[in-house]
This record gives sequence, C-alpha cells and structure tokens, in this order.
Amino acid sequence: MNHPFTIPMTSNTHPRASDYFGSLTFSGDVMLKRLPPEVFMNLQQTMQRGLPLDRSIANTVAAAIKEWAIEHGATHYCHWFQPLTGLTAEKHDAFLSPTDDGGALEKFSGDALIQGEPDASSFPSGGIRDTYEARGYTAWDATSPVFLLRGQDGQKTLCIPTAFVSWTGEALDKKTPLLRSIEAVTKHALRIVRFLGDQKATHVIATLGCEQEYFLVDRELFLQRLDLVVCGRTLVGAAAPKGQQLEDHYFGAIPESVLAYMTECEQRLFELGIPVKTRHNEVAPGQYELAPTFENSNVAVDHQMTTMHILRSVARRHGLECLLHEKPFAGVNGSGKHNNWSLSTNTGVNLFDPRDDTHTNMQFMIFLVAVIRAIDLHADLLRASIASAHNDHRLGANEAPPAIMSIYLGEMLTGILDQLEKGESKKSAKGAELDLGARTLPQIPRHSSDRNRTSPFAFTGNKFEFRAVGSSQSVAWPNTVLNTIVAESLDVIATELERKAGKNPSPTKLESTVRGLLKELVKSHRRVCFDGNGYSAQWHAEAAKRGLPNYPSTADALPALATKKAERLFSTYGVLSPRELHARSEIQMEQYCKIVQIEGRTLAQMVATQILPAALRAQGELADIVASTQHAGVPCPESESELRSLAGQVAALRIALQQLQSANAMEVTDVVKRVRHFRESVVPTIERVRELSDALEGTIPADLWPLPNYATMLLMR
Ligand code: ADP
Ligand code: MG
Repeated sequence: MNHPFTIPMTSNTHPRASDYFGSLTFSGDVMLKRLPPEVFMNLQQTMQRGLPLDRSIANTVAAAIKEWAIEHGATHYCHWFQPLTGLTAEKHDAFLSPTDDGGALEKFSGDALIQGEPDASSFPSGGIRDTYEARGYTAWDATSPVFLLRGQDGQKTLCIPTAFVSWTGEALDKKTPLLRSIEAVTKHALRIVRFLGDQKATHVIATLGCEQEYFLVDRELFLQRLDLVVCGRTLVGAAAPKGQQLEDHYFGAIPESVLAYMTECEQRLFELGIPVKTRHNEVAPGQYELAPTFENSNVAVDHQMTTMHILRSVARRHGLECLLHEKPFAGVNGSGKHNNWSLSTNTGVNLFDPRDDTHTNMQFMIFLVAVIRAIDLHADLLRASIASAHNDHRLGANEAPPAIMSIYLGEMLTGILDQLEKGESKKSAKGAELDLGARTLPQIPRHSSDRNRTSPFAFTGNKFEFRAVGSSQSVAWPNTVLNTIVAESLDVIATELERKAGKNPSPTKLESTVRGLLKELVKSHRRVCFDGNGYSAQWHAEAAKRGLPNYPSTADALPALATKKAERLFSTYGVLSPRELHARSEIQMEQYCKIVQIEGRTLAQMVATQILPAALRAQGELADIVASTQHAGVPCPESESELRSLAGQVAALRIALQQLQSANAMEVTDVVKRVRHFRESVVPTIERVRELSDALEGTIPADLWPLPNYATMLLMR
C-alpha cells in the first residue's frame, strides 16, 4: 500500500516524445518488424536512394502497411499529392470492400499502393490536360514515408505521398519537378566531389529546413471578419495604438494558451516523424515561429505541407485560427518562411560547411562560387519562384528582403572572394592561413557574421537561407528552381574543370585549374553579392548600376518564367519540359489575378454591406444631434463641421467603391495583360478604399464599427 504522503510520480505518466516519434509513419523499426528481411532491404534501397520501386514486392508491402494502418485505427487510405494549387490533395477510399456473401473484407493491393487515378479534371493544369486525356494518375513516391493523418476525433487516414502526372507523363504537381531537380543538382554535385578525389561518397543529397512564421487570432473574432475568412488577411483595419514599436513580443514569454497550442502541434508533428525543434514569439504581436531540424529535401517539403496543415487544424481545437498569410495585418510585420538549403554527401559531409574537416577548401569554394554564379545568372527565376499576390505585400516593405536578389556572405568570405579574384594574398580576414590546397578553411565561426536580415539569400555558416519565401507558399517550387539553377552551375563548372585538368590531374594541376576557374567566375558573378543594408535606397541605386534585376511585384517578376532562357534551363536538366514550364507560369499568373479579384470582391462586399451602413448610421446620429442642438437654440459649429466632414468621407468611400467594382469587373482576356490590369488598376483601388475605410474607423463611434479591430485581434488575449 502507498504511504499516505507519497506524491504520485506524474512524470512517469507522460509518454516520452522519443517513444512516439514517428509512430504514425511506416518507416524504420515498424518496417523492419513487419516486412520480410529481403523485402525490407529492397524497400530501404528505394527509400534512401530514390531507386524505382520493385513491383514484385508491392503486394507484400501493401499488406503490411494495411495491417499496420488498421491496427492504428485507420479506415481509409488516400494518395496524398501536391497539385499546382499549392495545397495538398487527397481522395479517400475505404479499406472495406463488400464480399459476395454479404460480408465485407479490408482490402489494399500493391496496385492501390503504387498507383491511383484521381479525377484530375478540377485541378489547374495550365492547359496540359486540355489537349490530351483529362485523367491524371498518382504514383507512390517511396522516398517519402507513408503516414497516418489524424482527424479531429482521432479517426485516421493512411496517406501515401505521391507524384501526380498526366497520362502523357507530364507533371501536374509540385513534387515531380522537385524530385527531378534534386536528381539534377545531386548528380552534378557528385561529379565535383568525385573530381576532387572523394571516391567514398556514392551520392549527394539536398537538405532543407524551413522556419515557419504564423499568426494566431481568436477564432470567434476571425469568424466575424469576412476578409480573414475569405482572403486570410485583413483588407481594412486601422492600426492599433500599439503595434510592434516596443519590440516586446519578439522572443518574449510565450502566453500559456499559445504554449498549449504549440505543444499539441508538436506532439502531432512528432508522431508523424516531423522533427520540429524550435518555437518562439516573432516580431509582431500575435506572431510566432516554428522550425524543424533539417531533413532530406523531398521529405522536408512533404513535412512542411503537413506542418502547415497541422498548425491550422490544431488551432481550431484551441479556439484559435492560425493565419499563414504573408501579410494578415497592415502596419506590423508579415510572415515568411526561411528556406535553409544545403547539399551533403551520403558520407555526411555538408558541402557548404567550411569547417567540415573531411573536405577541402577547394571543394567548399567551388560549391560556394557555383551558388554565386547560379543566383547571378538566374536571379529572375528565383524571384519569380516566390512571386504571389500575398508575398507582394511583404517583399521590399522594410520588414522582409527586398525584391532584388542578392547574396549575403559576411566579412570573412567576402575577403576570401577578394583574394580569389586577385589571386594573391593567402590571409583570411581573421589572419588565419588561407590555402586553397589545405584541407580546411580558416575556422569560420558559424555565427560570427552579423545576421543580416535584409538579405534575401544569405550564407549562414553552413547553409544558404532563402528568406524571401512566403509563409503560406509550398516550398516545392522555390526549391525546384534553386536546385535547377545550382545544377546548371555545377554542371558547367564540372565540365570546365574536367576539360581543363584532364583525366587524373596531379594535385598541383588540379589546384591551379580550380584557382583559375574560380578567379574567372568570381570576377564575372560577384556583383550579386552584397553585405550592406538591403532596405536602403542606396542599395537600390547600386543594384541598378550593377545591372541586377529588380522586380518589385508579381506582375514584373512572372514574365521571367516565359523566357527562352528559362525553357532551355529547365528542359536541359530534365526538370520541366517547355509545356510543363508554360503551364506553371500560366497558373501562377492566373492565381495572381484570381486572388486579387477575390480580395476586390470581398472588400466591396464589406464596404457596401458593413462599413458604409455603419458610417451612415454614424452620420445619421450626428445629424440628429446637430439638428436637435440647433433646434434647442444652441449653435454647434464644430458638430456641424464634423458632420460635413463625415458626409464627405462617406461620399469619397462610395466613389472609391464604385471604382473598385468597375476595375475588378473589367474583362481582360490575355492573361499577361490581365495580370498587369490587376496590378495597376485593381490593387491601387483596393488600397484607396482601405485608406478611406481606415480613416472612417478612426472617426465613427466604436459601438457602430461592425468589425473586430486591430487592438482586439492582436493585443487582447
Ligand atoms: P537560425 O539561427 O536562422 O534560426 P538555425 O541554425 O537554428 O538558424 O537553423 C535554422 C534552420 O536551418 C533549421 O530548420 C535547421 O534545421 C536548418 N538547417 C541547419 N543546417 C542545415 C543544413 N545543412 N541544410 C539545411 N537546413 C539546415
Ligand atoms: Mg533563419
């Protein structure tokens, strides 16, 4: 019997995260236990090396997955894919099938695992499907583990990560080109690694870790705002008296209610094998961030999509709404998604880690310069890859990187570039020896450099951080572009090195060849490197002088995808055929127009049915006051002039509303012109309406204002 004073060991009642990590994925130990050894080995090969799945094992694997899923309470399975909407899609099938004798059996065949045939006709295809079959099919991507997704009441669905292609083999999704781009970049990276004499590495992997920013608002308040519900951002709303000027939110104590939410999110993510690592308050009130440990980039992209899903769905269980929009609130910071990217050999050498003593200075410098060359030549494509109506509110707004793509290297690497270019001194900035032939670079302290937040593309010690990616975007497309442009650079460099140095070069020949080539490349491409303040007007002028492209809006950025240069690049590396590329550029343009149009309509409806009526009520009240005061024989010139001014504001808002409605309804058939129309005519009228509405919000009685205001949404919790 327990001693009456024994305190129960509560710590023992909590399951350890390490015990349930990955428990809802079919991988690792679960696979080992449930598959015959030879099938396990075979599948491992496929998963780790991205080799084609051996069809002969499909039925065995499917049977094991089915048993495992059903034991965990799953009733349905789905092929989970990433269509060009930028979201994920799933169509559920029950395992249960009726039998002839009136009973039922749970069935799941190898074919059902490997291939699905969703009705694809309602997904955007950018014209790919119109000319061929309307059908598409999904194919299991065995490099990404199958997982069980929980519903609200604990019901589970077996999700099979798949690629989505048309019957002609053209990619209808974001995963297929991503996989192709990973193949391209890792193939050419391996050539360099091999050229430099590393015969142990058999393949290279791309690694990715994405920091996700988001806002939380009270769900009751959220539901009272049509703009938040429909567009994910506030289209009107006067600034709260307090925004982020006190800088008291960033890294502040996490409110308890938010911590409870984060904890549940983390548990759900851990179960799915998603290694979330950090959580903290972000700059704006109500803004937070979560970041995982990096993973193989294909898996990281899938995990990122799932993370967004979990952030949203768990919020509702906590009476909150998670806003992933890039700019939910004007006047305070928006949200981004820092895309941390690197390449590493299968033997564990990070190719962008200058401290990694298993590789040489030369190797690091080649990879670094390859990225510099890639960004310089294809800044336009990288910019286009993150262009969206949402991200337009953020980029270049002195809170996020400017739209000019440049690379931040930090003082020490900049010094090393100087030396490479001049080909003279061997001293690094900190006085350490720099010798390209030596096995290690001077020990660059990983966080020695000022963490320049104004740079869209920063070298952060052992990886590159692409910071212009928007918070709601799928990271598949920006990574596809990044992998492809770096693949091209590595290919060109490898080819050049192989040609100049010949077969089996001596160490001195090899070194002089590398030095010579790097010198040329640094000279031609270092203009894209910039360590200063990316927000400053001087940089804009300087960047123009250097000839760097500056595409402030989506409308300016998207044409880069329609160039011959882009077509050649993506088709040379087998990432996208010209038709597939064209489809993506069409869809990105269409989406831009649709988003702006929906915002315009939403705003018009709110103004016509909520804001103008409220303003008229206020005007009526004021008119009554003026009339009755004057009737009582008391002159009230101030109230009278206030009334006049309010009536003027209402009239101005009415006119702006009409302008918005007519601009928004204008039909422009050509999509390129339509993008321009929405950018040049609709966006400014939306802004004008907002300005007038926000001024009214500051004038009329609070009890008449029909919407939750900024202070209520951002500060009261
Ligand atoms: P920060 O200080 O910017 O938050 P961290 O070192 O915490 O930087 O890393 C931020 C993100 O970068 C994390 O998601 C982390 O996993 C990821 N990251 C770190 N190393 C790599 C790498 N080699 N490849 C890809 N991502 C990486
Ligand atoms: Mg970061």
